[in-house]
Amino acid sequence: MMEIKDCYGCGGCVAVCPHGALTIDDVVERMDEKCIKCRICEHVCPNGLIKIE
Ligand code: SF4
Ligand code: SF4
Repeated sequence: MMEIKDCYGCGGCVAVCPHGALTIDDVVERMDEKCIKCRICEHVCPNGLIKIE
């Protein structure tokens, strides 16, 4: 499960996801079927807004 709180839409996580599992339209949304839980996006978010469980 992925939780994104208070995303301000910088797009950083979308750019680094190696599986194209993130899309952005004001805020980020995840496509569950593509996510492999590599956690790269979690580390990239400048404010630690992404939590992968
Ligand atoms: S955990 Fe990895 S695969 Fe899943 S959305 Fe984040 S960067 Fe993409
Ligand atoms: S890196 Fe963080 S703030 Fe930027 S788009 Fe992704 S979740 Fe939102």
